[in-house]
Amino acid sequence: MPLIVVQLRSHDFLCRNIFKLQPHASALYGGSCSIQLAQARSASSVPLHPSYSSLCTPIMLCSTIVNRVFGQINASAISPAGVRCVAMSASGTRRVAVVGGGVSGLHCAYVLSKQGHAVTVFDMGKFAPGKTTWKGLQFDHGLQFVRPVSDAFRAICEEWLAAGALARWDEEAAVRYDARSGTATPRAQWQQQQQQQQQGAASDAGFLDVLDPGPLYVGCPSSDAITSHLAAASHAAVRNDVKVAKAVYDASSRKWLLEGAVRSPSRTLSDVKQQPPVTPWNLGVFDGLVLADKMTGCSGTPGYVELSGTTAGNKMQQAMSQVGSTPLLALLMAYQPEEVPLEQQAAAAAAAGQDAQQQQQHAKPVLELPFDAAAVVNSQEIQWLCMDSRKPGRARADGMQCLVALSTAEFAATLVQRASDGSLPRQTPELLAKMVPPMFAAVQRVLAPLLPDGKLREPGFVQVHRWGAALPAKAFGSACLKAQTAQLAACGDFCLGGGIENAVLSGQAAAEAMCEMLAAADSA
Ligand SMILES: Cc1cc2nc3c(=O)[nH]c(=O)nc-3n(C[C@H](O)[C@H](O)[C@H](O)COP(=O)(O)OP(=O)(O)OC[C@H]3O[C@@H](n4cnc5c(N)ncnc54)[C@H](O)[C@@H]3O)c2cc1C
Repeated sequence: MPLIVVQLRSHDFLCRNIFKLQPHASALYGGSCSIQLAQARSASSVPLHPSYSSLCTPIMLCSTIVNRVFGQINASAISPAGVRCVAMSASGTRRVAVVGGGVSGLHCAYVLSKQGHAVTVFDMGKFAPGKTTWKGLQFDHGLQFVRPVSDAFRAICEEWLAAGALARWDEEAAVRYDARSGTATPRAQWQQQQQQQQQGAASDAGFLDVLDPGPLYVGCPSSDAITSHLAAASHAAVRNDVKVAKAVYDASSRKWLLEGAVRSPSRTLSDVKQQPPVTPWNLGVFDGLVLADKMTGCSGTPGYVELSGTTAGNKMQQAMSQVGSTPLLALLMAYQPEEVPLEQQAAAAAAAGQDAQQQQQHAKPVLELPFDAAAVVNSQEIQWLCMDSRKPGRARADGMQCLVALSTAEFAATLVQRASDGSLPRQTPELLAKMVPPMFAAVQRVLAPLLPDGKLREPGFVQVHRWGAALPAKAFGSACLKAQTAQLAACGDFCLGGGIENAVLSGQAAAEAMCEMLAAADSA
């Protein structure tokens, strides 16, 4: 007789229902959770992920008994070798899997959790999205700023601000910088000029419209503080280094079975991204599934999730794969402050009527730019410059200056193509290193009008980060996608357009759609 693995959500649930299960179980294992897990695993051809030892209590029951106890479970197999997985949870609470732990997926998880659902977020990356650290240095290589436009997102930003995940950024921190003339126009002045211009005249508000009116915020102490806050506030189980590779929908039980690959110490991130996964892990059984990244719908990309059991889901993936995306390169540079010679220190102190000790000008910054951040215009190569170490809360005792430059999409595409000699580009250290000199030269060209001899000093640390799919080429046009018949939704910045606000509002819409679908499934 085939075996069934029943994953009970908690020990508490098991205890409350044990009297119902005990008389019917052909084998209801007692003892510790790990013994039950080992027994469940040995009966299953798909290994259970070890993290489930804390989340679920698997028990073994024969299928006829489970059918008698929980009438809704159908005997048709949804995983190989006659092993069936079902998820039980406390009444009203449903288990939802979110594939993608960016802001969209995590905000979706946050909203779903607030509605009482048990959410697991899977992300194939490490938990520090958008940040590079190196020997005590820190750079936002992804999200640079937050500029809320809608009332809904303003309210969310207020929450993040109160939680300390965001800090208010001086509205004049970002300027419009003309790379041809070297002119820096303050944001307020540019906005005034726009108002005076004829209505309807095309205006370029710079990288992600940073120059348009509205308050500016930054992640505090770095951009990943936002995702960390969402993960903590949602109480979702966040599983990093886990790639979801396959999701099977069983229409009769209305459950999703997820399989994927888990990064172990011996496996690299590119191993995890490999398709098909080296070892398919059973990642659990869920009542609803949210795909929170465009990649999950695009076959041939590292994030593709093979969906089966739902044609509506396959159609949704087809629609997702139609949305193109654009690449970006981020150049990260760090400058050690320059030592001021003793005689210069003394002269400066004398001029100021102080002694050298008081003056404390032992070191001076190497880069003296007339802005903290700049939306660059009149450059085909660079579109954004930001002194990361000047963002709120990031001042450094050692005076180190951390500068971030973002390329244009076209320049990124050209450099990647050139560096990879026309073969398929990969994120290898060698490939990235090849892109450092041309990116550095481009930044030098942009800053040349501000530099005494047109030359930018060589930084002490320099690195390129490549974003293969940085921003959607165009928006899909609706806040989220859904497949009602399979409790399936999709969200991400591809829905409403690039930028954190669109990503978050899409996650919100997917969560609301999921709640409706789960309620409809319950009452069907
Ligand atoms: C360099 C750069 C700078 C930016 N600056 C700004 C800015 O200043 N202001 C602004 O508003 N916006 C900015 N953006 C845009 C903004 O960061 C994005 O629009 C937003 O973060 C997208 O969030 P998301 O959740 O939709 O997607 P993502 O953040 O891409 O999250 C999707 C996640 O899904 C995971 N994933 C995919 N497939 C799978 C799978 N099968 N299994 C497990 N995990 C999977 C991925 O690992 C990824 O972490 C910037 C973007 C870039 C690239």
